[in-house]
Amino acid sequence: MSSSEELFARAQTLMPGGVNSPVRAFGSVGGTPRYITSAQGAYLHDADGRDYVDLVCSWGPALLGHAHPEVLKAVHAAVDRGLSFGASTPDEAELAALVQGRVPAVERLRMVSTGTEATMTAVRLARGFTGRELVVKFAGCYHGHVDGLLAAAGSGLATLAMPGSAGVTEATAAETLVLPYNDLDAVREVFAVHGARIAAVITEAAPANMGVVTPAEGFNEGLSAITREHGALLILDEVLTGFRVGPAGYWGLTGARAEAGWAPDLFTFGKVIGGGLPTAALGGRAEVMEYLAPLGPVYQAGTLSGNPVAMAAGLATLRAATEQVYATVDARSVELSTALSEALAAEGVQHSIQRAGNLFSVAFGVSEVHNYEQAQAQEVFRYAPFFHSMLDSGVYLPPSVFEAWFLSAAHDDAAMNRIFQALPVAAKAAAAA
Ligand code: PMP
Repeated sequence: MSSSEELFARAQTLMPGGVNSPVRAFGSVGGTPRYITSAQGAYLHDADGRDYVDLVCSWGPALLGHAHPEVLKAVHAAVDRGLSFGASTPDEAELAALVQGRVPAVERLRMVSTGTEATMTAVRLARGFTGRELVVKFAGCYHGHVDGLLAAAGSGLATLAMPGSAGVTEATAAETLVLPYNDLDAVREVFAVHGARIAAVITEAAPANMGVVTPAEGFNEGLSAITREHGALLILDEVLTGFRVGPAGYWGLTGARAEAGWAPDLFTFGKVIGGGLPTAALGGRAEVMEYLAPLGPVYQAGTLSGNPVAMAAGLATLRAATEQVYATVDARSVELSTALSEALAAEGVQHSIQRAGNLFSVAFGVSEVHNYEQAQAQEVFRYAPFFHSMLDSGVYLPPSVFEAWFLSAAHDDAAMNRIFQALPVAAKAAAAA
């Protein structure tokens, strides 16, 4: 037995499924999850002494690569000053100012600890601000495990083919209206019927939890216009895309550059903003954000919110995330997705490379995917053999076809070459499935 097998066997007697987050259990690809003991740059090292080029990057945060020296230095210095004070610190405002400098529509920011908390708070705030109860979400978009947002939620639910979650009351589920992604007509229709009761539309800035799906030209902007017209708020979930696809997230690639310019009322951030430590945030229009306690009637609080060590990691990460970092990740993303597509084409495997900024994923057996229905119609069975072939060649892919592939600025030529060499073999395995 390998160390990972032994560790997984033991973990299953101690924790549900042996894991602390479902997709880690390798449920849809089979086999034994690798137990990671350290990570450096583009590489993960496991308990069996093997290393892998990492294309998960902690599901997003590791934009600079693992254990980046400047981030570690800042974290070590913060640790030496104490771990948690339960009081305000100078670095919180520093990080908020950095975010505002990149995304000016973030007039006020509140730090929380996870992306789930950020979206949960954004929804409560939208309800408090508008005095309305309904929320519109899109099938295949994941916003964390908030009760009301778990319907048709993508991510681990897509992997496990779960339509929603047990334990969510019917009353809660009834307050969420689920629409097909990329369909503005469906949004207009639902507003025509329920407009006066809709508090908010929440959407991933670019979906990356049903695999990657490109927002149609004008889709996010259209959501902004429709919500404004009906007095509802738009919550743009940039937990995954924020500070990863560009200095100002997906909004920066699109909204900021749109001719008229538009911005959501609220943004949610996570992952990169904490540089690998548990920090997330919500931010947006001051008028809305100041509905939060202590100024306003919407309550939200957190023992570890704005934790000083996490602030240090987030600050160091954003400071090191230069234009050059984004240019490197963008270029690597084009190289890798091109090589992937060529390898699959050479084996006659029909596929679609799904892109949004530097994020991409592959969908098998389909020519394009614009929504969750199309994502679910793909040949999911081709992914497990492809994944395991890559793993055997020392490349760690997301253990589900419904997740994005994440690169970092530390993916150098050596790391890329290992991936390029692994692809043709894996494409054969996908073809044979
Ligand atoms: N929103 C989006 C778009 C996400 O991708 C995720 C997590 N993958 C979340 C929210 C939830 O974040 P967390 O896992 O930190 O709760």
